[in-house]
Amino acid sequence: MQQLLLATRNPHKVDEIKALLKGLPLEVLSLHDLPDAPPPVKEDKGTLAGNALQKAAAAAAVAGKEMIIMADDSGLEVEALGGQPGVYAARFAGPGADDAANNRLLLEKLRGVPPERRGATFRCAIALLFPDGDTFLIEESCRGRIAESPRGSAGFGYDPIFIYEPAGLTFAEMGEEAKNRVSHRGKALHRARRLLERRLEQQP
Ligand code: IMP
Repeated sequence: MQQLLLATRNPHKVDEIKALLKGLPLEVLSLHDLPDAPPPVKEDKGTLAGNALQKAAAAAAVAGKEMIIMADDSGLEVEALGGQPGVYAARFAGPGADDAANNRLLLEKLRGVPPERRGATFRCAIALLFPDGDTFLIEESCRGRIAESPRGSAGFGYDPIFIYEPAGLTFAEMGEEAKNRVSHRGKALHRARRLLERRLEQQP
């Protein structure tokens, strides 16, 4: 069966992506499954697309020749902060900062900012590399607003403070399934799945 290598070590992402690719004739592996996996990429390209391509290239260097590679990168842009934390969303409150610390810092920086100026956009880039050298980049986004305080317990990262306006709920209140239908990563993965379906159909 055709193998697809996810250029990540994050078990949360592996589970989420495996669920979204379910039913395709693919054996999905991650860097955990490779003995010679490269050390984590520094993610210093300054753009989500650049980072996704960089992670994919690093994984391709150790992957089998016939493997498809998938890599993703995501971040959050807050308008009142000139687009911060952007690509640096994971380490907003410093290297090794946890989700709670990042959320606290963001809420602190937005203290006193009225709802109409708390707009924010989650962005996701997915790179797909095929064995014949074809490379695809998929980018999706999801607009919302930063809450005044955390709400909800599902999800991860900034989910408790990101309000998806059509639902009037934070991502952490919506739960995984509802979030995945509208989120930056959910939409990008949906497009990646359709692309994979088409390519696998074309194979002899
Ligand atoms: P990554 O590049 O996908 O690992 O994401 C970088 C950081 O962006 C994560 O550590 C989170 O802080 C934040 N982030 C990305 N996507 C989401 C999401 O769907 N919900 C909440 N936070 C997210």
